[in-house]
Amino acid sequence: MKIYNTLSKKEEEFKPLKNNHVGFYTCGPTVYFYAHIGNMRNYIINDLLERVLIKNNYTVKHVMNLTDVGHNIGDGDLGEDKIRDEAKKEHKTAEQIIEFYSNAFFEDAKKLNIIKPDVISRASENIKQIIEFIEKLNEKGYLYKTETGVYFDTAKFKEYGKLSGSTFKSLNEQQIGGARVQRPEGIKNITDFAVWRFAKPDEKEMVWDTTFGRGFPGWHIECSTIAYKFLGEQLDIHCGGQDHIQVHHTNEIAQSESLFEKQFVKYWVHIEFLTVDGKKMSKSLKNIYTINDLEKKGFTPLSFRFMVISVHYRKMMNFTFEGLKHYYDALNSIYAFISKISVPNEKIGGIDKEFAKTIKEYKKLFFELVSDDLNIPNAIIKMHEMINYSKKDLNKEETAVVLTTLLEFDEILGLDFKKHLSSKLSKEALELIKERELSRKGKDFEKSDKLRDKLLKEYKIKIEDTKEGSVWYSV
Ligand SMILES: [Zn+2]
Repeated sequence: MKIYNTLSKKEEEFKPLKNNHVGFYTCGPTVYFYAHIGNMRNYIINDLLERVLIKNNYTVKHVMNLTDVGHNIGDGDLGEDKIRDEAKKEHKTAEQIIEFYSNAFFEDAKKLNIIKPDVISRASENIKQIIEFIEKLNEKGYLYKTETGVYFDTAKFKEYGKLSGSTFKSLNEQQIGGARVQRPEGIKNITDFAVWRFAKPDEKEMVWDTTFGRGFPGWHIECSTIAYKFLGEQLDIHCGGQDHIQVHHTNEIAQSESLFEKQFVKYWVHIEFLTVDGKKMSKSLKNIYTINDLEKKGFTPLSFRFMVISVHYRKMMNFTFEGLKHYYDALNSIYAFISKISVPNEKIGGIDKEFAKTIKEYKKLFFELVSDDLNIPNAIIKMHEMINYSKKDLNKEETAVVLTTLLEFDEILGLDFKKHLSSKLSKEALELIKERELSRKGKDFEKSDKLRDKLLKEYKIKIEDTKEGSVWYSV
């Protein structure tokens, strides 16, 4: 398989560091508020990549951190800690905020069929390891102390900035040019960052005593430490939003490579931004949406997943509700097709040779595309073509071939095709669905509505009518 590497700025053949094992790290959410759809785009793409790796027979160990301390407003070293700030606003403890918003995050992830990482680790559970990491960096002479914290001297890391194709010099000059950015007092270089911040007297929650002072870790050191703890000195893949390239990931590299003197990550994978109605999401524009907001407007989380995976991850994605409606309908059409052809079919006659060959060809193309730098959008086009090709009168055996292929595609797409198989239904429910279909055809809508209610109440089957016919699924 191939993947685009931010570090080399090229699409590369994927080869893990060790045999078939893939160490995969994702920067998890800062659990101070609901994740928005832009964040979720990121995690859906991570999930796709993991599924494609598994499909290509790799054993993946996926590690994700949860930032519950040390991530400041504005992402720099000056602002308030995001979680403490939210706790103040909501009159809650930091722990309550963390608990509440991590649960909300995992609920959304579940609704979006995102496979749970093998390891999820909170920054605050790793303070001992973080302190050890800092101590070792200090022994090697990379750190210095100011009034506000312990800082990493970026001038000492020769390759600083390589991920964004910059240098220590160009980054520092560039930032001096755009002098608006405020920096903590006492730092030596503009790109220097805190690995440990000293607590202010009123900061009592989520602070720890150390030999270098009472305080809490910086945001970047959490990722370097957690990645090392669970995956070792070197990782195969590190994923994240492309807004993290210049600072967060650049600083992770500086810390880990200074300490271990080895390349930290072999493949850096970055996901482009999501805009809403062509604009950046922002509080003032009131265009920050969560999965819950989409649901309130009647859309399913999986229709959003379908929308996300239909846009290549290295392209900017523009979210609109009209766009989502399009994907919602398109997904329902696929479900309707699956529901329809999976009704037991009495027609036998074997598989037409030409038909079998064509489906095989579609399958080959689909998996080639998904393994080519996650070209899922084109793979989805191929799937649609296959569905259209399969809409003619199929016999029992041919239907089975199409269904098996679609279910295999869904191992990557994660769109719950299985739930729409009529084999999931009891005989009675299936009869009721058929009866309802007939009453609809005969325009007896009163009867068809009654049958729909009955299916929902007694069989927990929800029916929706689409252009392509009825879609049903278990609720
Ligand atoms: Zn990170």
